[in-house]
Amino acid sequence: MSVSQQSSIDLIALEERYGAHIYHPLDLVVERAEGVWLWDVEGRRYLDCISAYSAVNQGHGHPRIRAALIEQAQRVTLTSRAMRNDRLPGFLKRLTEFCGYDMALPMNTGVEAVETAIKLVRRWGYDVKGIAEDRAEIIVFSNNFHGRTTTVIGASTTPEYRRAFGPFAPGFVAVPYGDVAALERAIGPRTCAILIEPIQGEGGVIVPPEGYLKRVWAICNEHQVLFAADEIQTGFGRTGDLFACDYDSIKPDVLIVGKALGGGFYPVSAVLAGQALLGLFAPGDHGSTFGGNPLGAAVASAALDVIVDEKLTSRARYAGAKIMQGLRALTSPHILDVRGRGLLLGVEFDQPARRISEALLQRGVVAKDTHERVLRIAPPLVIDDAAIEFFLEAFADAVATLSS
Ligand SMILES: *Cc1c(COP(=O)(O)O)cnc(C)c1O
Repeated sequence: MSVSQQSSIDLIALEERYGAHIYHPLDLVVERAEGVWLWDVEGRRYLDCISAYSAVNQGHGHPRIRAALIEQAQRVTLTSRAMRNDRLPGFLKRLTEFCGYDMALPMNTGVEAVETAIKLVRRWGYDVKGIAEDRAEIIVFSNNFHGRTTTVIGASTTPEYRRAFGPFAPGFVAVPYGDVAALERAIGPRTCAILIEPIQGEGGVIVPPEGYLKRVWAICNEHQVLFAADEIQTGFGRTGDLFACDYDSIKPDVLIVGKALGGGFYPVSAVLAGQALLGLFAPGDHGSTFGGNPLGAAVASAALDVIVDEKLTSRARYAGAKIMQGLRALTSPHILDVRGRGLLLGVEFDQPARRISEALLQRGVVAKDTHERVLRIAPPLVIDDAAIEFFLEAFADAVATLSS
């Protein structure tokens, strides 16, 4: 059955020996995946409720995206932007129309798009708002996650992301997530932008108070401050809306996307904004060797087609409601909270969620703890009723193993 020459145990030992230990992964060695299902090297099947942190919203190995990748790989994969390629223009048009913006700037990983957005809002702060050189401030939020570069972890409030990695770049001010008054107090003449996740995924699936984002958006408008939304995890249907900001009917000045834009095949990220903003970049200001390459453009175009044609946004809404209903029907003294939107769900326990994660794994479900006591449940958006039933049964079973 297995094409791997080695057992899970051997492969884990090999990885531990030769790789830096920057993650604490579950002991599951995946060999193959399709849709919502994963198979390990011993041929055991698991339901994927992580979706590579929402990078595989379309499901693993989607045949249309795979075909686009293979077709493009046979023609041209990388040109650099020292010249043009025939796939980028159509992709940019598709992406900007899809997201409702004038222009896009393609990058590769999510954090690169965040870095790009930071440069963009600072440039605007100096060239348009007239902030004195090197004085611009970006307001970020407690418990945020925007990626792992040195600049971006400098904007983090999570000690383990920062420990012994300083010194950090100045120019970030953190305020409590969900607190309108604190935000208003933090805004000053040097504030160029806020950078916000409409739902904090890594932070433990934190949904802000009803109406909060709309207030934040209004405050930004009032004070001539750009609203930059990091929708890398929440975007492309995950929360039951195309973008999580749609729930509050707000349109960010700067939209940051990644993860599912690559359909689980290839890293593709982007920053979207109006012409007045992205037009501030001139040749030489920014760049990326791989950003905008034809392979990524072909894959991302197909990834967007799948989101539309397979109605993944409404499927997320339906499946999310169904799972939420099942979770809420469970009564356990160990469950403190069930929250989230669409298929970005979190269950908070009275103990480390790693335990429930391990118990689920034994029952063929992969879901992981985030922020210690929260279990994040975020399967690919293509999950069907049978898989939902399978999940809910395994979950009830796993919860019953928790000792009091
Ligand atoms: C995953 C994530 C990032 C970083 O993306 P990478 O591709 O890992 O660099 C940034 N912001 C949010 C909200 C994310 O979930």
